[in-house]
Amino acid sequence: MSRSAEPKSVQVQLAAGTGVDIEWQDGHRSHYSFSYLRSVCPCAACSARRAAQGWQPGAPRTMRFDDLGTLGAAVRAVKAEPVGKYALRFHWDDGHRDGDYSWDFLREVCPCAACARAKDDVSAV
Ligand SMILES: [Zn+2]
Ligand SMILES: [Zn+2]
Repeated sequence: MSRSAEPKSVQVQLAAGTGVDIEWQDGHRSHYSFSYLRSVCPCAACSARRAAQGWQPGAPRTMRFDDLGTLGAAVRAVKAEPVGKYALRFHWDDGHRDGDYSWDFLREVCPCAACARAKDDVSAV
């Protein structure tokens, strides 16, 4: 089954600071806290940093924010802007803004229990 990584609606809760809510075309709903999104930032620098600490954005279930040093702080987005039609870019209050969060990526790192279970099934050895 291919995922339909096209959002039906996207709400970035900048004022409330609670994160991002996405409803997908297939009816699935995802909620991402800002600190979670910041911790899975797909930019090269953050990816390298995570790799150095032994974990990857494809495995959000096992992420431990405490391991991330300053990345684990309660970061908030101060601005969100579209990147073409395929991604969102956040400006974080720690000054970082290099990551483009594509819809595919966001769907992939959806932290909900159902998606975590689906990943378990796939990665179970
Ligand atoms: Zn980054
Ligand atoms: Zn999900």
